Amino acid sequence: MFDKLRSTFSSVAKSLGEKELKENDIDNILFQLEIELMESDVATEVIDTIKSDLKKKLIGTSVDKKEIESFIKNSLIQSISGLFDAVGSVDIISNINSKKNSGEPCVILFVGINGTGKTTTLAKLGYLLKENKFSVVIAAADTFRAGAIEQLTEHANRLNIRIIAQNYGSDPAAVARDAVLYAKSHKIDCVLIDTAGRMQTSKNLMDQIEKITKVVKPDLKIFVGDSLAGNDTVNQAREFYRHVQFDGAILTKSDADARGGAALSVVKITSKPILYVGVGQEYSDLKPFDKQVFLEAEPKPEPKPEPKPEPKPEPMSKKGSDPFEGIKDQDISTYADLYDVPPPENDDDAFTLSKNIRNWIANSRPMPGQQPKKQEKLESKPETKEPEVKEKQKEDKKEEEPKKRRRFGWFK
Ligand code: GDP
Repeated sequence: MFDKLRSTFSSVAKSLGEKELKENDIDNILFQLEIELMESDVATEVIDTIKSDLKKKLIGTSVDKKEIESFIKNSLIQSISGLFDAVGSVDIISNINSKKNSGEPCVILFVGINGTGKTTTLAKLGYLLKENKFSVVIAAADTFRAGAIEQLTEHANRLNIRIIAQNYGSDPAAVARDAVLYAKSHKIDCVLIDTAGRMQTSKNLMDQIEKITKVVKPDLKIFVGDSLAGNDTVNQAREFYRHVQFDGAILTKSDADARGGAALSVVKITSKPILYVGVGQEYSDLKPFDKQVFLEAEPKPEPKPEPKPEPKPEPMSKKGSDPFEGIKDQDISTYADLYDVPPPENDDDAFTLSKNIRNWIANSRPMPGQQPKKQEKLESKPETKEPEVKEKQKEDKKEEEPKKRRRFGWFK
């Protein structure tokens, strides 16, 4: 999230010098910030809060041009961090422990729209609680959606957790109550209640959940939202909160969410904390929400295909020939040592180097700093100008070429 903002700030910062920031100066920054936050799925009212918060901090502040980017970023982080801090936290484990100490099961109600990952999240929490040595029972109180009971039963079987279910169409509040009674009589630590995520109308749905709430008086009500659904999630949270006043939210599919705006918006709009985030489809993929991780999260880079370097066309004249043909091995190493020449990285470099070596030989192999004895223009076939080279050229060729290649690793 902040990586995107960072590039915005650096372009804005370029237009500002070292001076006291006036309202006009920061209007541009705030406008760009607004766009970025909207693109990150942050709800409008949250953007307004952040903007006015930031404006208060920026107006009248004297900031060095070089520091403006980090100054704005830090102010923004502080502002967002403050939103998270303001809602406190809810520790599910210690809630269960304190109920357990009083000999009662902790009743947790899950609410949320179909498809957000509510059933999976309930199963993940069941797994987490079992890992923490709590006993768990599940109530299949979504008696509306076809397949909901079977889906939950499948999870319960896999996790070896007892499930209480009735038929489709039966009263969800009765299913939930049965599960609570079962937990009480069997000294079970925790009851996880699934609820419908859609009904004929939203009013039916909310009425049904309110009824369950009245009957079983849950200790915790958790809203499950899909972090990828952006503003839909925010609207769902708002609606559920109006009817159910949940205690906290779990946002699913955070593993695929690079924007992060839903978490911020849900917290701001409901004043309730994010308890966990779903980070995958395994039972263990439920992580406590960590503000710090959120604030520091880097957007996942788009996988870019490795650009293939354009193959350099090989000059026709050079193709297939060895640029060092006819130059003695000894001359190549002497030249390389004297002039501290690294092995060429490609054929073009090799040809340039061979040209230089031929010039050097033609100039009677001067030492570095020494004046060349004669300055000869490079001929197309310099080996014919260098008797020494010419002389041995044929007999050395067969033996030296493979040696050169091996020694310098210049050619494949
Ligand atoms: P429900 O209709 O709200 O009960 O949704 P489900 O629990 O059936 O989940 C819907 C889909 O979302 C399933 O394919 C889940 O595996 C998937 N899902 C749930 N949570 C996560 C998560 O945290 N990350 C990912 N990547 N997928 C998830």
